[in-house]
Amino acid sequence: MLLRRLSVTIYTRDRGRKSVGGGKLKTIEDINEKIESGKAVVLTAREFKERVRKKKTRAEDVDVVTTATCGLMSGTAAILSIPITRGGKFERADEVWINDVPAFPGPCPNERLGIVDVIVYGTARSESKPQEYGGGHLFRELVEGKRVEVKVKADGKVFRKKVTISELGFAKLLTTRSSFRNYMGFLNTKKGKVKSIFSVMGLRGPYEEISVSGCGEINPLENDPHLQTIGVGTKVLVNGAVGYVLSKGTRSSVQRPNLSVVADMHGMSPELMGGFVTSSGPECVTSIAIPIPVLDEKIFSNLEKTDEEVGLPIADIHDRVPFTESDYGKVWKNTDLKIRFNPRKCQEHEVCEVQKYCPTKAFRKGEGIDESKCFNCGACVRLCPNGAFEGNLGRIEIGGKEIPITLRQSNRERAEELASMLKRMIIRRKFLLANPVARLE
Ligand code: SF4
Repeated sequence: MLLRRLSVTIYTRDRGRKSVGGGKLKTIEDINEKIESGKAVVLTAREFKERVRKKKTRAEDVDVVTTATCGLMSGTAAILSIPITRGGKFERADEVWINDVPAFPGPCPNERLGIVDVIVYGTARSESKPQEYGGGHLFRELVEGKRVEVKVKADGKVFRKKVTISELGFAKLLTTRSSFRNYMGFLNTKKGKVKSIFSVMGLRGPYEEISVSGCGEINPLENDPHLQTIGVGTKVLVNGAVGYVLSKGTRSSVQRPNLSVVADMHGMSPELMGGFVTSSGPECVTSIAIPIPVLDEKIFSNLEKTDEEVGLPIADIHDRVPFTESDYGKVWKNTDLKIRFNPRKCQEHEVCEVQKYCPTKAFRKGEGIDESKCFNCGACVRLCPNGAFEGNLGRIEIGGKEIPITLRQSNRERAEELASMLKRMIIRRKFLLANPVARLE
């Protein structure tokens, strides 16, 4: 029997809602019961915010809001267990590389078993192509089912084995920090260019361009900033596969929490992950979706925040200390989430800057944009001298100057797709909500 202890809601002229009594509306069990009976009202964060803007929603009308983020998440690693030889061929691995990306053997020594357990960082770089290929690329190739080459140095000998993910009994993706409650914008306040993981070509200064990260109003932790519903054991999607929250991540704070999550790589979707080459080398793209159950008015009220109300701190790339603040409305409202290629304007220059610098290698001359790889970062809009790449990335005013956004390191379009994927899974009863087993302290 569904519990309904509805509180009285007062609508004020400034759209604020005050809960009188503020009692609980429903429990996770109530919502799961509704999911099972096909009666749950599930909205993506985008659908929910549209209703909020039209002032057409009440807490008792919605059961779950699916939130998501997709962006560069440096704190991503893979833990893999790889069969290399028959038992007895070597005692323990000393060094391991996969597709030339260094991996850390252990912690289990797997003594004389012919198996190596490794941890690979998403930010690790290939030894032969350090500016082009890294851990993020490797994770995506594994999930795509590609064969990867493992090289093991052990007992003074070298062992090589080509494997696919289907041969790995254990392949998990773990984040040490991810899904930050939004992020920041960076610019260069001084003359010249600064190489950085927050740029593709180096950030030009003074005050020439801004690079931004964060999915704004659809970000999971922006919708549950006090971690009322997200806790240890909360069920989430990581790159499309079911995973769980382990704890808060490193550098998590009360103001800007982030999460450590884990999921099996076997069920992941390659287009939600991968490598992204910055002017400081390869980074790792990760996507996370989290369902927010509308259990009470307070949770509902946190969900009402829109892009214009989400702060975007802006920092100088030299010290990364925010010196001013804008908002995510400048990034995601009245801008183009998707970047389009207009082949009529393409002159197929001998050296195509976009083909050379596209951070995900999504563009090839004569072929256009590979949608499955494109991150909608917008770097190509500035790189192409003929304007063959179209997309309004927005501008941010600082000190009276309108500075163009030239790079987005979060892919809102892909995050919205992931939020829709989670919604479909819930509606089709393939994803029930999990009660956290402990609060994230
Ligand atoms: S938006 Fe342009 S530069 Fe960015 S990934 Fe897509 S094609 Fe490459």
